[in-house]
Amino acid sequence: RPLSFTSALEHTYARDIPGGSAPAAPQAAPQPRLLWFNRDLAQELGLPTDGVSDDDLAQCFSGNALPTGSQPVAQAYAGHQFGRFSPQLGDGRALLLGELRAPDGSLCDLALKGSGRTPFSRGGDGLAAVGPMLREALMGESLHALGVPTTRALAVVATGGTVRRDTALPGAVLCRVAASHIRVGTFEYFAAREDTAALQALLAHTVARHDPTLAALPAEEQALALLQAVVRRQAHLIAQWMDIGLIHGVMNTDNMTLSGETIDFGPCAMLEAHDPAAVFSSIDLGGRYAYGNQPRIAAWNLARLAEALLPLMVPPSADPAAAIPAATEAVQAFASHYGAARLALARSRWGLDAPGPADAALDAGDNRLLDDWLALLHAHRVDHTLAGWHLAGAWPGAGMGAGMGANTGASGGLHALFGAEAQAPLNAWLARWQQRLAQAGPGTMPAAQARARLRQHSPWIIARNHRVEEALAAATAGDLAPFDALMAALRQPFSPDGQDARRAPYAEAAAPDITAGY
Ligand code: AMP
Ligand code: MG
Ligand code: MG
Repeated sequence: RPLSFTSALEHTYARDIPGGSAPAAPQAAPQPRLLWFNRDLAQELGLPTDGVSDDDLAQCFSGNALPTGSQPVAQAYAGHQFGRFSPQLGDGRALLLGELRAPDGSLCDLALKGSGRTPFSRGGDGLAAVGPMLREALMGESLHALGVPTTRALAVVATGGTVRRDTALPGAVLCRVAASHIRVGTFEYFAAREDTAALQALLAHTVARHDPTLAALPAEEQALALLQAVVRRQAHLIAQWMDIGLIHGVMNTDNMTLSGETIDFGPCAMLEAHDPAAVFSSIDLGGRYAYGNQPRIAAWNLARLAEALLPLMVPPSADPAAAIPAATEAVQAFASHYGAARLALARSRWGLDAPGPADAALDAGDNRLLDDWLALLHAHRVDHTLAGWHLAGAWPGAGMGAGMGANTGASGGLHALFGAEAQAPLNAWLARWQQRLAQAGPGTMPAAQARARLRQHSPWIIARNHRVEEALAAATAGDLAPFDALMAALRQPFSPDGQDARRAPYAEAAAPDITAGY
């Protein structure tokens, strides 16, 4: 009973880059059972899944009865893992089924993860467990709801089989939707083989897919222009991660896309108490991928992309080294793109209208305000998300009269997050913010309206670790109710007033002793 999509799956990647993938078939799932299906995403993609039974969806997205037109391939890629280069990684437990043309005309990848061994599996079993696949589904929907570019899960199916990790775990297959699965490591793969023809084909494919306006440029200019575009996208993406407090966990170059989408949620987690050194992954011993390191690491990864693209930046027989200055400049532009994106996000959160013409002094002042806010949260171990959300309550005139920043009225929620010793520095910072608002903010907007506006940019609900762990533990034991409830809450991350009793428990931080255990 294979599912038949209205528009046929396409296979442009396998066609355009012959050495870039290997055919492989999914392993049979003994007893597939649908754990979660993303109806919203199915609708966006125009998939005719409305009348389809859960059993048929489970057969389809476990890989047992692939959608018609699927030609599964495992994609090859290389990558720098924790700084060390591996010339061959590739999809060890994933298969690209094909590309789907969405109703808006865009092409997106449909891929399985956890569907068994492939030619790139090396020592791995090709499998995935229920917990991590449901985590990927949760994180993807949460980021999507927060407006962060991300790959998303379409379905999670329990296979009915067992996966051996530290203990025996129930197995699962996730169906992932991505703008593409082209990674920095994909370019590194062909660069390491000095296969310039394949690199050129990959460049043309990537440009056609993600930056079609660049296709008109002469060949040597396309590589640099693509690099510049990816630098811009990644700068915006990382600025969004930092704004909401996402710690990706494994920012290896094979986990960084050219599309600018978040990909490969492994040991990822959301920051709670603000701390640049926060690390959640037990394999990240040196803290390489700590929260505060992410912008630096992104730029480092982009330098690896630049290196891989060098041979394409010069005429065929010329020395690629000639392109180093331009490539270096393109990578260094990350800092200014990131800085601008970070500032724009802070201004949205804080009701500071972005100035028209460039104003370096105003930017510098606002950057200091942002740095000092984050330093304040760090110094006093304050919850990143709750502080951002409660800040809207300190809008001037919100029941505080002349006593700006006093521990009264609507700003009480903010003040309660800070200890007694932190009230004075908090008030000093609030006075600076309020002064800046009086200068250039939306001025006389009533407090309630201003609060609501600010809270469109400051989430109330994020994927807190204690909630995620609780939901995944229950799901692994067979109870999906906590997962479903958490998913529903994460899909509505914003609230003007924090008044929804059903969602309120998901906004709470873990007790401090729990947080300390991560
Ligand atoms: P990751 O860091 O999880 O993105 O994965 C790094 C590499 O390990 C990729 O090539 C994956 O396909 C591969 N890999 C991870 N888990 C498995 C597994 N269970 N079996 C085979 N390959 C795997
Ligand atoms: Mg990966
Ligand atoms: Mg992975």
